[in-house]
Amino acid sequence: MMRIGDMTIYGLIDGEALMPKEYLYVGDNAPTESDWAPFTGYLDTCTGHQLNTIGSYLVRTGDRLILNDAGCGPDVKQPFTGGGLRSALWAIDVSPNDITDVIYSHLHLDHVGWTTLGGKPFFPNADLWIDRRDWNHYAADDYVMEEWEAAVLDPERDRIAAKFAPVRDRIHLFEPDTEIIAGVRALDASGHTPGNTVFELVSDGEKGLLIGDLVHTQGELVNGWDLAFNGDHQQAIEAIEHFRKYLFDTKIPFAAAHFPGLRWGRLVPGDGHTDIAYETL
Ligand SMILES: [Zn+2]
Repeated sequence: MMRIGDMTIYGLIDGEALMPKEYLYVGDNAPTESDWAPFTGYLDTCTGHQLNTIGSYLVRTGDRLILNDAGCGPDVKQPFTGGGLRSALWAIDVSPNDITDVIYSHLHLDHVGWTTLGGKPFFPNADLWIDRRDWNHYAADDYVMEEWEAAVLDPERDRIAAKFAPVRDRIHLFEPDTEIIAGVRALDASGHTPGNTVFELVSDGEKGLLIGDLVHTQGELVNGWDLAFNGDHQQAIEAIEHFRKYLFDTKIPFAAAHFPGLRWGRLVPGDGHTDIAYETL
């Protein structure tokens, strides 16, 4: 649990994905075994694969309960697992009916899963907030699902246009760099997807960042590793560089969509091997 001013934020785990780390990073900055050394604690004990936790952040502010992303849901296949979000909500005494808003960092499958199930809204009272560029890309009639997504779900049932059809009248499309809800600012982090978004929380003079899929591991943030799943690699690297500088200069706390355990952290001066290091809060 984290407090930013008057806001309270909970990390809610839905599931996880374990992937071979040697397949995940590409290009000149792809990590070697020694680059992984500071991060081996985050690798799976049995397989050595990289652990990506999957889930949501719940922001309680005033009379609103805002969910940042909606997990995988219960219907995905390996290497993804999902299905824990509902119980994680109940564990903090929140019903799906109580959610007032869902704010999406982007529209990959592991961020939209609980939006609807069996053609029905899972959060029936929520307004849904989506970057216009991501919506236009993923909900387009001619959109063809990427291979890694089609392999782990049902491409007909789970394509974005079908998944969101039952909640179409609850969708609000936002532009980057706008305050979409009081105290919640959507910042442009495009590259991973066309409308990839980082949300800045501002309350009572304090700030925190929900960085979504800007990066998937601490190593990308500290060392500039380039993720194979980034849609536009150059743009993604520029976005990471921009937020790395911002997070280091300001030292404000941040949480990523896939860091193990959905823990918060911040960027601090490095120990000599790197200029910048990641510190879990
Ligand atoms: Zn993603």
